[in-house]
Amino acid sequence: MNRTQARLADGREIFFYDDEPTRRTVEDPREITRPDGGSELRYDPFLDEWVAVAAARQHRTHLPSTDQCPLCPSTAERATEIPQQDYDVVVFENRFPSFSGGEALDPGLAPRALDAVGRGEAELTSIRHAGSGRCEVVCFTPDHTASLAQLPVRRLRTVVDAWADRTAALLETGQVDQVYCFENRGEEIGVTLHHPHGQIYGYPFPTPRTRRMLDSARAYRSRTGGDLFADTLAAETRDVQSAGGGRIVARTEHWTVFVPAWARWPVEVHIYPHRPVRTLPELTEAERDDFAALYSDVLRRGDRLFATPLPYISGWQQAPLSAAEDFRLHLQLFSIRRADNKLKYLAGSESGMGVFINDIPPEQMARRLREAGSAATAATPKEDAG
Ligand SMILES: [Zn+2]
Repeated sequence: MNRTQARLADGREIFFYDDEPTRRTVEDPREITRPDGGSELRYDPFLDEWVAVAAARQHRTHLPSTDQCPLCPSTAERATEIPQQDYDVVVFENRFPSFSGGEALDPGLAPRALDAVGRGEAELTSIRHAGSGRCEVVCFTPDHTASLAQLPVRRLRTVVDAWADRTAALLETGQVDQVYCFENRGEEIGVTLHHPHGQIYGYPFPTPRTRRMLDSARAYRSRTGGDLFADTLAAETRDVQSAGGGRIVARTEHWTVFVPAWARWPVEVHIYPHRPVRTLPELTEAERDDFAALYSDVLRRGDRLFATPLPYISGWQQAPLSAAEDFRLHLQLFSIRRADNKLKYLAGSESGMGVFINDIPPEQMARRLREAGSAATAATPKEDAG
């Protein structure tokens, strides 16, 4: 891994990850300071969840014109967030973080606060904690108009290293319990910057979704003696024999891509490693190589499903530090697009009650994604992805 570490003018950390060894001298010429007002965590006693309130984010950059993009390399005329004239992959602390600073949240904080409420010593609606954790931005390429799907596999491989390296570093800070590396792609998804980039959130607590998965894994283990993740992968693999061909989209030596039987989004794929690893840093070189090529393939299949490139959210589900239960690292990619001119919005049932209604049977989407792959090998040369 070729990494250069430096600091921006306001003290934020920046890390360059290069495809090849590159000597970099980093000097940020700007006079900038960090915006005032961090985030605050507020406790929702009904759902037993924390909500981050981050008022400073209201002022963050929103869909700037290309010549004002803060993620493009700096030029002689204009200093951006990246004080280099070129880069491969770069990670830096978000200027408008949803989570920043402080220690990881003590899991006993909310229960103790509720005890205090019971004794009349605290107010139920005032269980709060100064925002903690970390938010980082990951730029995949200096090319403003590219997309992850169009980048060479070599670059995706560097991105995998950057994700793994930052995950390991954040888990060692004492401020972070769980790391989420993700990408929002497309204005339909709410992207506020077009430049190809993703984000890394270091949450100071295990996230609600993961907590439920861990609870389920523990209950499944006690009921069946099995590992819920391994058994799901095995069941999806066996199902290939079924009439429709099952829900597996692709399989490589180290990874399997499938549409879960219970997919809730019109397009949803999960990518599981065959080995039971919990976080990205545990992946071997061979597993990373294999993933980079496979992910490139999956993204290009997604872009072939509809008339326009697929808007999607793609993110790594990683085990929290605090978790002892069975967990398997996996990538979850999903899209709100359900037809060329139709989006699936989270409406009443989904937003209000958390009950999803999926209009596309997962078996049908798996078949379309398989076909998008075979059509590609026949018709599309490797470089002509976009
Ligand atoms: Zn840009």
